[in-house]
Amino acid sequence: MTKYATTLSTRRLPGGLSAPDGKGLTAQVPLRPLTPETLRIALPTERYMPLAAWSIGSIIKAGAPLFMTAQGVIQACPRTVQVTQLVDGMTLSSIPERCQILQLTVLEPSPPTQPCLAPLSSRPDPADLQKRAAEAGLVGLGGAGFPAHQKWSGELHTLVVNGAECEPFLTADERVMRERAPAIWHAIDVLMRAYSLTKCVIVLEDNTPDALAALQTTHPEALQDRDVSFTILESRYPSGAERQLIWLALGLEIPTTARPVEYGILVHNPGTLAALADAIDGYPLTDRIVTVTGPSIISPGVFRAPIGTPINALIAAAGGLQPGDHQVRHGGPYMGWEIPEEAPGMHAMTHCLYAAPAIARTTSPCIRCGLCAEACPVQLQPQQLFAALSHGQLDHAMHEGLAHCLRCGACDQVCPSALPLTDQFQTGLTRQRALSDEAKRADRARERFNARARRLERQAAEAETRRHTRRQQSESALERIRAARAKESI
Ligand code: SF4
Ligand code: SF4
Repeated sequence: MTKYATTLSTRRLPGGLSAPDGKGLTAQVPLRPLTPETLRIALPTERYMPLAAWSIGSIIKAGAPLFMTAQGVIQACPRTVQVTQLVDGMTLSSIPERCQILQLTVLEPSPPTQPCLAPLSSRPDPADLQKRAAEAGLVGLGGAGFPAHQKWSGELHTLVVNGAECEPFLTADERVMRERAPAIWHAIDVLMRAYSLTKCVIVLEDNTPDALAALQTTHPEALQDRDVSFTILESRYPSGAERQLIWLALGLEIPTTARPVEYGILVHNPGTLAALADAIDGYPLTDRIVTVTGPSIISPGVFRAPIGTPINALIAAAGGLQPGDHQVRHGGPYMGWEIPEEAPGMHAMTHCLYAAPAIARTTSPCIRCGLCAEACPVQLQPQQLFAALSHGQLDHAMHEGLAHCLRCGACDQVCPSALPLTDQFQTGLTRQRALSDEAKRADRARERFNARARRLERQAAEAETRRHTRRQQSESALERIRAARAKESI
């Protein structure tokens, strides 16, 4: 058995937190498959193309395409269902928007049992692989949910597997690595061959030895001669943030203004790779592994559940909530956000539901202790950003580096004044994005106006040229007539 090189990273995250991790609540609990009686799938808020009959009562087979998003990714139906209702609700995003929710009754509990797409050839062509990923609805399962294949471009040389699930209480990625190690290796092999990648680094934290063992004991023959290695990081939040991870594992700094692929580095989390292996075999993305945890959950656990599983069904499967008032968050305790009442079911990026007692937040003025700056992994001055944004000085906050903020919440965790720092930064960044979108729209409108003015000017000049030519032609004709008459009169 070949052992891949396994090294401990000697680099240390600036700032960050080594908080008690809470992962013990779910790390050793057996994975539980869950199929609810109903599914609630949010339809995209932007342009999309329906691909199934959604009239009330129609039946849709497991794996059949439901709709295609504006980015060209197809969402497959997770189970065989009957359409019950199309209702209004809110998206499950950090800034919820109104949306429509497709409510479905589950008729058969199993996911697609036969491939829904043609299997990929053994010598993968990048174009085939991209098509397969888009048809299977493959999105990045660890982040904002962009189509995974959109990263597969340019001069790529290194694949980084981000298995550093650094936020406390989260164990979904660790479970994927333990349960689906062969699938992860299969996807690594296919990506390395399709894009001629020369190197693969699998990055884990030092608190997931079971995941490391599962991957090391299942490595495939096909990768034995490749440059594949493991890098183990000190368990520290937020070492799993993409740029931080690349620096810790490879020593390469990627500027905030650039994407890792521009430096030839492709980063995927283990869940995305396992889903890619399914897509290669012809199975669309219908399910994911999700942790349901936190001090308010009676029996915390890790579930494999279909996309669209109602939040209440997941919480009920984990024994429900303790008596009292609780706050349920989508995501972990640091980066998660409160779930709106009219939320749809879980989506492909739902890696965790976290519930904790609802505690009224009592804030007090900043005492300039500087703890937030010490905790910040990108060396910002959160207290200054907060002060600037509190006074409506967005430009000043941008000048102070707001765009570099990871919204990791490390500053919130240490602030003795309990100031809502990250909420304020999120609001500022959303405002900045809206202003920048507005400026782009204004630029486009100005460009259209100028293009129209140029076109009218050109048309007027062309009309004037035509008039001038016609005038010249009639004057020449008159000349010729006069000359002919003069000749006749002689
Ligand atoms: S939320 Fe932003 S400012 Fe606060 S610690 Fe994280 S990166 Fe720094
Ligand atoms: S930790 Fe809180 S109180 Fe201390 S400087 Fe930062 S914002 Fe102010």
